Amino acid sequence: MSLDQIVDIAELKAAIRNVPDFPIPGIQFKDITPVLGDARLFGGLVRHLTSGFERGEVDAVVGIDARGFIFGAAAAMDLNAAFVPIRKKGKLPFQTHEQSYDLEYGSNTIAIHTDAMKPGSRVLLIDDLLATGGTAAAAVALLKRLGAEVLHVVFFIELGFLHGRDKLSGVPVRSLVTY
Ligand code: AMP
Repeated sequence: MSLDQIVDIAELKAAIRNVPDFPIPGIQFKDITPVLGDARLFGGLVRHLTSGFERGEVDAVVGIDARGFIFGAAAAMDLNAAFVPIRKKGKLPFQTHEQSYDLEYGSNTIAIHTDAMKPGSRVLLIDDLLATGGTAAAAVALLKRLGAEVLHVVFFIELGFLHGRDKLSGVPVRSLVTY
């Protein structure tokens, strides 16, 4: 991965592959693997995700299961920050806080280790895509339970027509590519 190259957002957008009807009919799945598969694009994307933050300003980058781990871990390295995973319920081995949120059908639960960070930690929350905002809002709720200061929530892709941002009021939100 090369973090040194400047990559245009338009180039990143052009590399996102739209897969219709995955995983179920009616969903336009945004496949980011073509970006990951190109070292220059991957490095450029990570630089865009961390831009505006200096080394030393962020204590931890938090990534959401599973694609948020890919960008979150790379961003943590770039910022010399810790990486903290938020996982689906039942996957983290130690004591956890859990947060449930509603899906179109049913609900989902995500979890974080109770000792993942100290109160007052300055945190950047990263995920690949903002859709309805349920996942990210639950993640912010978990971080607040740990006493974290959420500096920013950053996404590669935002599906603007789903208004996920409305669920994240009170926290700064940035996305690189909007549909
Ligand atoms: P939401 O909680 O509705 O904002 O959904 C966000 C999560 O679902 C993200 O972690 C995405 O990885 C995934 N996701 C939702 N919609 C899509 C989509 N159209 N393409 C790819 N991933 C999606």
